[in-house]
Amino acid sequence: MKAVSFNEHGKSEVLRYGDFPDPTVRDDEVLVKVRASSINHLDLWIRAGLRNVAVSLPHILGADISGEISKVGGLVKNISEGDNVIVSPGISCGRCEYCLTGSDNFCSEYSIIGGYDRNGGYAEYVSVPGENVIPKPKNLSFEQAAALPLTFLTAWHMLVGRAKIKMGETVLVVAAGSGVGSAAVQIAKLYGAIVIATTGSNVKAAKAKEAGADFSLDHSRTDYSEKTREITNRKGVDIVIDHVGAATWERSLKSLTHGGRIVTCGATSGADAFTDVRQLYRRQLTILGSFMGSKGELLRLIHFVNEGKLRPIVDSVFPLAEAARAHDLMESRQQYGKIVLSV
Ligand code: ZN
Repeated sequence: MKAVSFNEHGKSEVLRYGDFPDPTVRDDEVLVKVRASSINHLDLWIRAGLRNVAVSLPHILGADISGEISKVGGLVKNISEGDNVIVSPGISCGRCEYCLTGSDNFCSEYSIIGGYDRNGGYAEYVSVPGENVIPKPKNLSFEQAAALPLTFLTAWHMLVGRAKIKMGETVLVVAAGSGVGSAAVQIAKLYGAIVIATTGSNVKAAKAKEAGADFSLDHSRTDYSEKTREITNRKGVDIVIDHVGAATWERSLKSLTHGGRIVTCGATSGADAFTDVRQLYRRQLTILGSFMGSKGELLRLIHFVNEGKLRPIVDSVFPLAEAARAHDLMESRQQYGKIVLSV
């Protein structure tokens, strides 16, 4: 099959398009003929090798996959060849306390398809566990469907699973132009929230409003914590969604109201963020970590996708062979929403 793989860590030029052996399919797996695969920040980190985790090389990235079932393992039920599907990106042990109580993303063996130890969707075919495939929402194209799983699941788990958002709260979404940010804006609106979005440019600020944000601020030019206080009559917001980390953390904490909670799922600008502990106890703030989401949460949010209430935003589509160019675009942070590879 054709695939984009890398055999050494480095910049985007290490991504090579070419022939790759077809995946093997175990009895509990299915083979998916990939139609689209979207790019996540995780892909850039794994490619660059920034973390001290070994990747088996050569490696194929890609956690977000849509496609057609082309082969079904003997033990897999309820799925047939030709079905159009999306792939739930998380794999867990299936037998621990967390897995068995529906919190599979807390499992100590949790891993991500296309992550360190398993090839992903930058390819014509990928094999995945049968339990990971979900019918593709009919109202989405394959490109839109590939833009759905990881970022919507992450944003849902942050707002609903961790922050336990209540109807009508005020939510600040930092970097609302990212995949997670653009999903968080929509999920917060689903809960009737007043949403303040920050983005890195005027153009993106306008797009955030189009996507449903009530207010949008350019975080490269304004102190959004001050602006947020103005918008909320000095009160501050109930929830902050932050995956930027070091560059925004202090301003994000300052934006919270008394008893507010901040949820982080990443640190794209760096992990060494400053927290004034006095702010935490005086204003009784809560810091919540969040990682991916459970399979149950993905199924829940897909109901709203099927009803047209949540919709992945696709910034651009590249052919698979141009994956390196797609990575460059993501690194430039010029996109609004998801960058997708069409296979
Ligand atoms: Zn488990």
